[in-house]
Amino acid sequence: MQNNEIFLCSICNVNSGTCNEDCKFCSQSVRYKADIERYKQKDMNIILEEAKTARDNGALGFCLVTADKGITDKSLKFVCDIAKMLTKEVPQLRLIACNGTASLEQLLILKESGIKAYNHNLETSEAFYPQICTTHPWSERYSTCRAVNEAGLVLITGGIFGLGETQEDRVSMLEALNSLNPSSVPINFYHHNEALELEPNSLTTDEALELIKLTRKTIPNAQRIMVAGGRELMFGDRQNEIFKHGCNSIVIGNYLTTTGRVMSKDLDMLKYLNLKVAASVK
Ligand code: SF4
Repeated sequence: MQNNEIFLCSICNVNSGTCNEDCKFCSQSVRYKADIERYKQKDMNIILEEAKTARDNGALGFCLVTADKGITDKSLKFVCDIAKMLTKEVPQLRLIACNGTASLEQLLILKESGIKAYNHNLETSEAFYPQICTTHPWSERYSTCRAVNEAGLVLITGGIFGLGETQEDRVSMLEALNSLNPSSVPINFYHHNEALELEPNSLTTDEALELIKLTRKTIPNAQRIMVAGGRELMFGDRQNEIFKHGCNSIVIGNYLTTTGRVMSKDLDMLKYLNLKVAASVK
């Protein structure tokens, strides 16, 4: 299945590397001492510049990420202040928040400040989850996703492949995602960092392409299947093949703690493939 319009999304790490949880794939956890930049709150002017760059490169989605288990009163206020500023200054962007576990009340506050969508990933299957995280349960992730639907925000939820899970775990995660009826499903491919105790991702490129296809097939009503973190490493010079397998959305620019390709390279790739950059959200 080939999609002719590709939705571009850009990620802004509002704070970085300050999380106390122990998700084994995550270099933002303070437990693993990964060699990444760590800060509490990014300067608002820098966020504004990043948003303008994303818009100028064709991004429609702009995701405000806080690296913590859940949203605190302080980070909630900060994300709301950013959302209000960006709604005024860069109205072309659809604002997404990704702030971990959140209550219905907190989600409604975000919605009021201009956030249109909320991203919270299930990460993996319920059965495999205790092997990758012991500090909070999978059920909490699932409940937050349900609260996003209840709040009337657009739900973005996905997961990460290549953690050592079985194919059965992958199918189980995809079925759980489908049960939440998400609009967009970001799939990530584990990008190994030597500070993390997980083994490097052993998926082959062909297997990863099949997983995109499986995601599309298992979640047929999702408007977008997004290939997010790990794209460059997982697909290398075969990145153009992801679109033939059902992907119709990508992250441009940098990821949370890893560097992406220069945005213009992705735009050149789409042009070469005769794929249009989506100009509006359906
Ligand atoms: S809760 Fe989120 S930020 Fe914290 S360690 Fe887990 S994945 Fe990373």
